[in-house]
Amino acid sequence: MTEQKPSACAVVGAGFIGLEMAENLAKQGLSVSVVEGASHVMPPIDMDMAHEVHNYIRSKGIELHLGRTCAAMDGKSVILNDGTRAAADMVILSIGVRPDTGFLKDSGIELGARGEILVNQYLETSAEDVYALGDAVSVTHIVSGNKALIPLASPANKQGRIAADNLCGKKVPTRGARELLL
Ligand SMILES: Cc1cc2nc3c(=O)[nH]c(=O)nc-3n(C[C@H](O)[C@H](O)[C@H](O)COP(=O)(O)OP(=O)(O)OC[C@H]3O[C@@H](n4cnc5c(N)ncnc54)[C@H](O)[C@@H]3O)c2cc1C
Repeated sequence: MTEQKPSACAVVGAGFIGLEMAENLAKQGLSVSVVEGASHVMPPIDMDMAHEVHNYIRSKGIELHLGRTCAAMDGKSVILNDGTRAAADMVILSIGVRPDTGFLKDSGIELGARGEILVNQYLETSAEDVYALGDAVSVTHIVSGNKALIPLASPANKQGRIAADNLCGKKVPTRGARELLL
């Protein structure tokens, strides 16, 4: 930022991190566009709530490109899949996280379809005496009961405490997790 002095930024992906970046860069005086493939920002919230967020974003002078994806970049702009160009001499890709667990492939530790580490309610993996926690594990969503990946600090922190209890011989189950919008 201080050396290159960009004037226009495209933020690709309108989750928590993308929107935080967009807001802060706009405050720094950059011209900011947000590109989001889904029809609204912040996937965990519903469309009617997201409309309020859209209005707020636009009120800050940030351009929103919804339902379109970034197809290419040429150093001066990002080119969207419908041919629209958004000026950008800086691009931030905030398009999600994926468990980087390839190295566990032949370890005997069972992985899910997205590479997530499968654990039971005590955070034990399928390998004896091996525990896993944090962004890379599959958790039970507290509301839906479905298995989910919730890469946030608060579940990781709680899981750390629970895994430590279990390692020390207690039998403490996880209750699951949900996305926090605080
Ligand atoms: C920009 C950003 C902003 C965020 N803001 C928030 C927020 O406001 N609120 C919130 O709740 N969460 C936030 N998060 C998410 C939060 O940081 C994570 O959920 C949390 O750090 C997960 O903890 P973890 O221990 O599972 O993983 P990490 O904190 O990522 O730690 C994993 C560590 O393991 C190392 N590692 C990875 N693979 C290997 C390997 N094969 N061998 C050895 N080491 C390895 C990594 O280098 C890293 O140091 C944010 C994340 C980012 C990227």
